[in-house]
Amino acid sequence: MRCDQASRLISHSQERQLNGAERCALSFHLLICRVCRKYKKQLKFMRKILSKLRDPQAYLETASSLIDERQSGEMRGRISKEIHEKLDST
Ligand SMILES: [Zn+2]
Repeated sequence: MRCDQASRLISHSQERQLNGAERCALSFHLLICRVCRKYKKQLKFMRKILSKLRDPQAYLETASSLIDERQSGEMRGRISKEIHEKLDST
């Protein structure tokens, strides 16, 4: 399986149950491919964030907990701006 196929399956797996063959092929690919493992993790994280959008405080906490301590207030500012834009658009 190639990475593009794997990433398609990964995003499908968020919406529907994969069949046996798909699951099998995907987990094998994830075993050998670090890039797709990372992609899966990011996708999961994004969904977690989106599901928390109704609760801005939780969103902020999740987002800030993921920011490296070494990063400056600039990043925090950017994220909170992003959150407010999202909240305004809903
Ligand atoms: Zn891959």
